[in-house]
Amino acid sequence: MPDGGKKLPGTYLSDKDLRALPGLVEHTPEAKYMFSAGQAQSRFLQGLREGRILGVRCPRCGRVYVPPRSYCEYCFAPTGEWVEVSGEGEVHTAVVSYISTFRERMEKPEIIAVVRLYAPGYSGKGDEYEFPGMFHKLCGVSEEDVMTGRVIGMKVRPRWRPPEERIGSVTDLECFEPVKS
Ligand SMILES: [Zn+2]
Repeated sequence: MPDGGKKLPGTYLSDKDLRALPGLVEHTPEAKYMFSAGQAQSRFLQGLREGRILGVRCPRCGRVYVPPRSYCEYCFAPTGEWVEVSGEGEVHTAVVSYISTFRERMEKPEIIAVVRLYAPGYSGKGDEYEFPGMFHKLCGVSEEDVMTGRVIGMKVRPRWRPPEERIGSVTDLECFEPVKS
């Protein structure tokens, strides 16, 4: 049980209960894996390391993909023209998450959002749910901002980690934070 878990509702299994379960097999996997991010994703990740957010434009319909895709999902046309976005955008939707990526209950929640990014030359035509955007953490907003819906449409920008800490990962971007006007 995590520290402070006593306050939470529900019945926890003790370590003893868990070990008494029939059919329990103990095994420590030593799984190691690697994969190729592919051409488009690799360039995107390299861009993050440089503090840049890159996408691609479909030459046929003009849709901009951030993160980039090699082919347009709508026209099946190969994309190719790279565009750089500033990273500024608006919060499209957000949730308050009390569960960590390791599936543990967190005392202090994280706020996760879908950010609709401003992209140069993007018409925004098409469906309301198609846009260049990123799924990432939001900082500088409260749980209440999310629960009251105040966060929706909020103008945000990326907060980058210092260059020496970047590793070519989506975590090089620490979070999106509100643009103070
Ligand atoms: Zn297209």
